[in-house]
Amino acid sequence: LHYPAARFLTSAPTLARCPDDRGAEVAFAGRSNAGKSSAINALTRQKALARTSKTPGRTQLINFFALGEDLERRLVDLPGYGFAKVPEKVKLEWQRHLSDYLQRRASLKGLVLVMDVRHPLSEFDQTMLGWADDQSMPVHILLTKADKLKRGAAASALQQVRSRLREWEDLVTVQLFSALKGQGIEELEARLDAWLLG
Ligand code: GDP
Repeated sequence: LHYPAARFLTSAPTLARCPDDRGAEVAFAGRSNAGKSSAINALTRQKALARTSKTPGRTQLINFFALGEDLERRLVDLPGYGFAKVPEKVKLEWQRHLSDYLQRRASLKGLVLVMDVRHPLSEFDQTMLGWADDQSMPVHILLTKADKLKRGAAASALQQVRSRLREWEDLVTVQLFSALKGQGIEELEARLDAWLLG
């Protein structure tokens, strides 16, 4: 698949308003500030594709990007809720829409979970992993901002995350990534191709 061809399709506030549930899609999730938008932009080689998702008022929406003209292959940007100062009621709504989407979206083939390599497996990440596990949904973890660590430290962070997730090794894969340096893009593309074309 040609990821630079990605273009914004639509935003949906709820599962009911998502585009037709056919073909295949991969969703990106991550705690706010983990580097999710930057990862999507690096993958698609577009400077501001995922910025749409950061426009105030759109942060709680599920954003869809089409990878070709036929709309059969899609990338999905899920709202991150880590640091957002929002009322508890809004947060709960948000979680409900997210878990609805993960549980019921038939075309969803896999989840890319973006984590800052220096702060992996936050509470948000563990919630997402738990939901994915409930659905036997495969997860690919991007340990991003790898450029912030020396090579040895990044490699050992990768090993630590892998070993903490050993019991899920059939469902979870992990890689280092840097949007800044363009590190790990091919590995990510290979994972997405396997899900979207498989
Ligand atoms: P999001 O909230 O998860 O979408 O996070 P952003 O993509 O907006 O990134 C949050 C901050 O981390 C921004 O200041 C980015 O410039 C920075 N950032 C994201 N990815 C990288 C990376 O790979 N390396 C470095 N050094 N900084 C990054």
